[in-house]
Amino acid sequence: MSLIVQKFGGSSVANAERVMNVARIVTDTYKKGNSVVVVVSAQGDTTDDLIEKANEINPNASKREKDMLLAAGEQISISLLAMAIEKLGYPVVSLLGWQAGFQTSSAYTSARIKRVNTDRIMKELDKKNIVVVAGFQGINRYNDVTTLGRGGSDTSAVAIAAATNADLCQIYTDVEGVYTADPRKVKNARKLDIISYDEMLELATLGAQVLNNRSVEMAKKYNIELEVLSSMTNAPGTIVKEAVKMEKMLVSGVAKDTNVARISVIGVPDVPGLAFKLFSKLASKKINVDIILQSIGRDGTKDILFTVAKENGKEAVKLMEDFIDVVGGKEVNISENVAKISIVGAGMESHSGVATKMFEALYDAQINIQMISTSEIKISVLIDAYDADNAVSAIHSKFFDEN
Ligand code: ADP
Ligand code: ASP
Ligand code: MG
Repeated sequence: MSLIVQKFGGSSVANAERVMNVARIVTDTYKKGNSVVVVVSAQGDTTDDLIEKANEINPNASKREKDMLLAAGEQISISLLAMAIEKLGYPVVSLLGWQAGFQTSSAYTSARIKRVNTDRIMKELDKKNIVVVAGFQGINRYNDVTTLGRGGSDTSAVAIAAATNADLCQIYTDVEGVYTADPRKVKNARKLDIISYDEMLELATLGAQVLNNRSVEMAKKYNIELEVLSSMTNAPGTIVKEAVKMEKMLVSGVAKDTNVARISVIGVPDVPGLAFKLFSKLASKKINVDIILQSIGRDGTKDILFTVAKENGKEAVKLMEDFIDVVGGKEVNISENVAKISIVGAGMESHSGVATKMFEALYDAQINIQMISTSEIKISVLIDAYDADNAVSAIHSKFFDEN
């Protein structure tokens, strides 16, 4: 007998028919003699709809109240799924995040899981119940409801798998696995049979939303093998695991991230310590900076450009305007019309020419590159948002359709 964690995303439980479909997958697993813990997200677009409802009333509502609202989405799914499982004649209990033992940091809307106290889950499994847990939520040290950030149910599932020492963690979604690019956008995207934690982590961080990046980080940390698969077909999915004896893919995928803003700080003094002081300002407000570009100094001044997540754009501009008021500088600009396109592959480390091939694909498609950044297993470029989908297709076909 095995302990299996199965997670179902929003589209997998979007309506009554889908909920019944999930109930069948879960009970089929249970019938085979397994203990099953199920993690579910809110139905369909429920979380987006709740955010809209909040904004109608108060766009500046406190994060605590936002979490109180958003957590409601998952409460609906767990109860409906439990009812569907009851209908099929199996013993089941639904649990909210706090009931399932999710203790988190106090950072409302982006809380981190500190610990999962599995006592209740284990008790219910001992009673032979199927346990259905609300993903995306927990409770902080003030006994307030928290949420884990968008896409957080994946992380809830991996956390339960780690805390209960589960034998298998399956992430069911609306595509058949992890592909070389978003299969909804790139028609020749190929399903990967297997991908390493490191590559998956990069892809997820760089915009492939099929798995939440924190869930991959946690899976790697606790060595939990993940299977990403479709709740709608029976096709085999993608295994995400440690890269032992795995063939290193030159490029395993292309990802797009449009949640990017480019900030340009123009005409600042070309003196030692300037970059340090500038980025300290951002760090002090916990604003993460991604790609950085600094021009060569000319006439005693230089320009510094960097990217941040869109939601941090305004605050970053304000900080930079205050900064140039003190140190001197010409102006601060922001562009939100940009996208970051990345390729990821563990094989890049030992192969030259990968960047050239990516740049050639962009040149062929007449797409201009604004900024570039590289690491051992990834290359990212910043381009005009208008070109984003074209760029992904052009790069994807360069690496996967030729040869
Ligand atoms: P869920 O609701 O199940 O959590 P998500 O919408 O969060 O599902 O993630 C699944 C979606 O991720 C797919 O529908 C697909 O459009 C998108 N996606 C983006 N990049 C990839 C990729 N490389 N492989 C598979 N899916 C991807
Ligand atoms: N319902 C949450 C969201 O839409 C969590 C999740 O789907 O994983 O972000
Ligand atoms: Mg998701």
